[in-house]
Amino acid sequence: MAASRMSTTGLDAPSNTSLKSVNGSTISVDLLESEEEIFTWQEVPDKGKGLVATRSIHRGELLLAEPPLFSLEPSPSNSDILAALAECTREAQSEYFALPNEFKGRLLPALGIFETNALYYNVHDSQRGCTREVVGIFLHGSRFNSSCTPNVSLTWDSTLGVMTFRTLRNIEEGVELCFNYTDVLATKEQRQQCILEDRNFLCRCSTCELEGVELAESDRRRSTIARLFDEVPNCGNEPTLGIRKIRLALRLLKEERLVHYEASFCYDAFQFCVSVSDFINAKAWIRRAWEVSCCTSGPDSNAARTFKTYWANPRGHHLAGGLPKATLSGPDSR
Ligand SMILES: [Zn+2]
Repeated sequence: MAASRMSTTGLDAPSNTSLKSVNGSTISVDLLESEEEIFTWQEVPDKGKGLVATRSIHRGELLLAEPPLFSLEPSPSNSDILAALAECTREAQSEYFALPNEFKGRLLPALGIFETNALYYNVHDSQRGCTREVVGIFLHGSRFNSSCTPNVSLTWDSTLGVMTFRTLRNIEEGVELCFNYTDVLATKEQRQQCILEDRNFLCRCSTCELEGVELAESDRRRSTIARLFDEVPNCGNEPTLGIRKIRLALRLLKEERLVHYEASFCYDAFQFCVSVSDFINAKAWIRRAWEVSCCTSGPDSNAARTFKTYWANPRGHHLAGGLPKATLSGPDSR
């Protein structure tokens, strides 16, 4: 038996959000009730412009929910992009051509801007009954700079058709808001290569600026978490070993100040616990998975709602009682 892996990204559902119309076209919004400005676009040292918090922001707060200006199949041509832009208002076209372009001189302008700013996400294709990848332009969301220790996560809300951006930790006023442009579990060299190939720039986040022993330790921790992420699903018949690997992964995630993957590891721990009928620890693990997914994807996301259902009824999981009874450990055990 292998614990099945549940991705905590892309599992989205309605949020308590509403869209407001800006200048005649529905583009954006910060969906906080007060609609106060919580971040501003300003100069940041060594990075050009970026989004900076104008007040302290709580973990899990919704910063922005934005529909794409347009979306296309992956790897569009310059003419695909021009055709999509032709459907946009003149004002939106101007905003598009004001976005940064890291491919000046290498690609045609519309394509260079697209490659610099576009975000990939999965949408449900009801006609084909499957999920497919698309790539879209978000005029506001593309202003978040890259960080390999991100304080913002993004999730596609397929019901509302918006990309949501939420804070991954408590943030002080004046701190830059960034999300990761590549897998946070890659080493610095792998991350730099990936971002250079995809977006033609080098990430200058605080983690990528590490050197010497500190860099080596960060790379080692991230590689170890990646290895554990692959190994844990194969520990279905050895739940004690599985839980031990998960506890190590969670400790390393904490040391790297990373939130991504935490809900997934906690869900795996829940599955190990239900498989041996340890429902007390199972509930503790799934509660942690729910709390993290509320922060990363929102309380109404499919992930959060799935975890909440199992929290209420861990015996309802298909792996429940599949192995001899045993007592494992919970997320707060020593
Ligand atoms: Zn970086």
